[in-house]
Amino acid sequence: MLCLGLEGTAHTLGVGVVDSEGRILSHVSRVYRPEKGGIHPREAARSHASQVKAAVKEALERAGVDLRDLDLFSFSAGPGLGPCLRVVATAARALSVLTGKPLVGVNHCIAHVEIGRLLTGAVDPVTLYVSGGNTQVIAFEEGRYRVFGETLDIPVGNCLDVFAREAGLSPPGGPGVERLARQGRRYLALPYVVKGMDLSFSGPLTEALRRHREGEDLRDLCFSLQETVFAALTEVTERAVAHTEKKEVLLTGGVASNLRLREMLEEMCRARGASLFVPPPEFCADNGAMIGWTGLLAHLHGVRQRVEEAVVRQRWRTDEVDIPWRR
Ligand code: AMP
Ligand code: MG
Repeated sequence: MLCLGLEGTAHTLGVGVVDSEGRILSHVSRVYRPEKGGIHPREAARSHASQVKAAVKEALERAGVDLRDLDLFSFSAGPGLGPCLRVVATAARALSVLTGKPLVGVNHCIAHVEIGRLLTGAVDPVTLYVSGGNTQVIAFEEGRYRVFGETLDIPVGNCLDVFAREAGLSPPGGPGVERLARQGRRYLALPYVVKGMDLSFSGPLTEALRRHREGEDLRDLCFSLQETVFAALTEVTERAVAHTEKKEVLLTGGVASNLRLREMLEEMCRARGASLFVPPPEFCADNGAMIGWTGLLAHLHGVRQRVEEAVVRQRWRTDEVDIPWRR
């Protein structure tokens, strides 16, 4: 069975063709980059709308299949930016009506976990999902993916991006901060905020920016910001591992590229007798293949949606989703 998945929760438009054996036949990404400042949802949506037809065509060509060969369409239904979500939902509905094949809306956060399990061989991990738009610690318990901890304000990727932008580093922010952090020597204390199992990054961001304005060394600030926010992420992940007694940790999302974060998680895993898994970078980032694969899992386990039910859910929570494929 062949599925075409459409991702469009934020700045990445992704199209992937996946089969029911878990083979990724193709994946194509078009990333919207604002000229300056942060992402503007309507601008991003306009960019996706102008590219979606070509991206679908390219994904089909690269997979060596025809539209008629597909058995299913899936799309990222949420959580995400409304205008962007509506572009891929509309495209999926159009493709479904055109071909007479079914469609299914997929939860973006769960798709990150499922493509990670598929590609790394992790079976039942605690997932740390860290990106520009999300920060969650997720694990499967009692029939659902439960959120064990999450940010109370901004996502960690956004924290790094805003700091980098205000400090004059060129986008994307995370890699720039990582590069400078390697040259940092002094740890400057920044607010370390873990509340119960939840996290907050606006405090360390504000303080790091204040000290930047005061003329503090940028390399030391990058180093200190990373140490502070990654330690908080590692702490919450560790507590989820301890609570669930799972032996695997899956790290995903754009921030998963960061070697210092990986190092901290490796050390925590070693101390707990657990293993760390990280998918290849193009599948840590938002991509169409993860939506295609999760759509297949859902469809093959009886999830059905009528075209008129295939709507977007901007605030769709990870723990609201029924997971028949892991019963
Ligand atoms: P995503 O939201 O999953 O598309 O990933 C983009 C986010 O990942 C942005 O916030 C980037 O700054 C962040 N990112 C990418 N590479 C790195 C890195 N090496 N270290 C930290 N953050 C990163
Ligand atoms: Mg994502």
